[in-house]
Amino acid sequence: MLKFIKENPQKRYLIELPNSIKQEEIDKAIKELKIIKDIASDYTFSCHDLTSFKETRKRGYQAFLALPVTDWELFNDLMEYGASDIWIDGALGFQTDAIARAKDNVQIRVVPNYSAVIGDMQPNSFYIRPEDLDKYQKAIDVVFFREKEVSREEVCFTIYKRGSFIGNIEDLIPITREPTPNALFKEDFAETRLNCRQSCKVPGHQCTYCRTYFNIGRNI
Ligand SMILES: [Zn+2]
Repeated sequence: MLKFIKENPQKRYLIELPNSIKQEEIDKAIKELKIIKDIASDYTFSCHDLTSFKETRKRGYQAFLALPVTDWELFNDLMEYGASDIWIDGALGFQTDAIARAKDNVQIRVVPNYSAVIGDMQPNSFYIRPEDLDKYQKAIDVVFFREKEVSREEVCFTIYKRGSFIGNIEDLIPITREPTPNALFKEDFAETRLNCRQSCKVPGHQCTYCRTYFNIGRNI
């Protein structure tokens, strides 16, 4: 590992801190990894909770919270603490203009095919089809995946890099578990969703735009 870093100091290293609430363990991990900080020109500590993130920042290390951020309160809190990255999800994923204005040099991360906000994904949850990734370009810097298998993760990277997917969107973005051909989606799908800003989640609001796609898919 160290040899690799020495040979590639220009790469960005993401160092995962142990998922622990014990301060000594976090301290130990940071100490052990200090050497990486000295060699690598760009690195960041991925922290599993707010406390270890803030502690790592207090010690002057680059770090970010490895949890999805869905509201401005936490977003601004992380900005104030100088997070290197912010993982956005939910409502924030529908506000690309505001995110682009607020993010400064922070790397905005997303998982495009999975929303961690609700256990069960819904048509109007946050997700991005491979074809729509460029509509999010101004706000998003890093795309990553949380697949159980590495091989699936690699396939996801390939699909999103290519920006097109032929087949059942449910195989890529599990939402209703019903067959929904990706070819059905209109070109302005993402734009319409960004304009909706998830106002369909407000009780009493009548927006069925996203849902219709998945219903149509089920009925053909
Ligand atoms: Zn809507």
